[in-house]
Amino acid sequence: SSLFAPIALAPRDPILGITEAFNADPNPNRINLGVGVYVGDDGRVPLLECVKRAETLLLEGSQPLTYLPIDGLQAYDKAASSLVFGADSPAIAEGRVVAVQTLGGTGGLRLGADLLRGFTPAKRVWISDPSWENHRALFENAGFTVETYPYSRERGRELDFAGMVGCLSGLPAGDVVILHACCHNPTGLDLTPEQWAEVIEVVKARGLVPFLDIAYQGFAEGLDPDAAPVRAFAAAGVSMLVSSSFSKSLSLYGERVGALSVVTSDSAEATRVLSQLKRLVRTNYSSPPSHGAKIASAVLGSPELRALWDEELTGMRTRIRSMREALAEKLTALVDGEDFSFITRQRGMFSYSGLPQLVIARLREEHSIYALDSGRICVAALNSRNIDTVANAIAGCLK
Ligand code: PMP
Repeated sequence: SSLFAPIALAPRDPILGITEAFNADPNPNRINLGVGVYVGDDGRVPLLECVKRAETLLLEGSQPLTYLPIDGLQAYDKAASSLVFGADSPAIAEGRVVAVQTLGGTGGLRLGADLLRGFTPAKRVWISDPSWENHRALFENAGFTVETYPYSRERGRELDFAGMVGCLSGLPAGDVVILHACCHNPTGLDLTPEQWAEVIEVVKARGLVPFLDIAYQGFAEGLDPDAAPVRAFAAAGVSMLVSSSFSKSLSLYGERVGALSVVTSDSAEATRVLSQLKRLVRTNYSSPPSHGAKIASAVLGSPELRALWDEELTGMRTRIRSMREALAEKLTALVDGEDFSFITRQRGMFSYSGLPQLVIARLREEHSIYALDSGRICVAALNSRNIDTVANAIAGCLK
């Protein structure tokens, strides 16, 4: 029989299934709330003006398309890590932070996973329940056992902080903990600064390995405030990993622009870690693509473009927030006796709506409104034209 005959069919991506069903729906008024990207009020992924201008500058410069270094464009690596740790980060100044350009945030997570699995005793990774659906598969494929810590209650509408801290407090030293720095995917539930301080205490006391995932920097409160948990961890003096991404914040999805930053204890350690990260990259894809990294570093390196980016990011963040407020307000008016204020407390692109699966199914069948079975809706997919339809449909299905 054939070489590949024993290969079983891999499970389908649940989000892709929703997209396919949406695309096949003949209803012209169908609404896709299952998307995982930011779309503007016009329902389209924006091309940011700061990106357009950076691209124009790059075109005018018409540089040859050579290979980048194994660890990526140096200006990009510097810009990416200082965006996360802060321009005045002591860890960076002390030469303890290693940054490598990666294939999006996903590539940063995978490179970090390979570093931990290949060069440290770590064998077990803890992710939140629920978490971004790729976390489990990614770390399992890198050779880890993946477990979950409690994260939400009230069908995903509220944070289960006691459950989370209780679980982390019982873990053995060396276990890896994946933490969403802001805009938790899929729930939209984030920790307060006080809660972060408590988690940092526990992580430090137990000797856990924090791996922060920051894929939505700028979507909660702004670039600096959203990175505060990363900076608090760095200030606590623990060795840590951070995967960051410009996919959403610069709307650069297909360009695959992310970074892995590793905070080590001294610059000699940093040199050794970087040498092994480069080996991992070299034997995998050799070196990263250049175009997206050039765009990102052009934006971050120019005061004008950087200011423009801030403005455009603020526009995206504000629009999402106003959609949250509108949805909560409309549902409160339409549905008796249910509190929808959780929608405005959740942050980032997603909301765990807490809607039962039966309601999600009816929204799809009766209204051509597509949300994930888990109840996750993309708030960014709401806009001035569809918000009333969505609110009325949800209210109708809840009656
Ligand atoms: N982490 C989380 C929590 C995400 O939601 C995503 C993207 N949906 C990523 C990482 C990966 O992002 P990228 O597209 O940059 O690989």
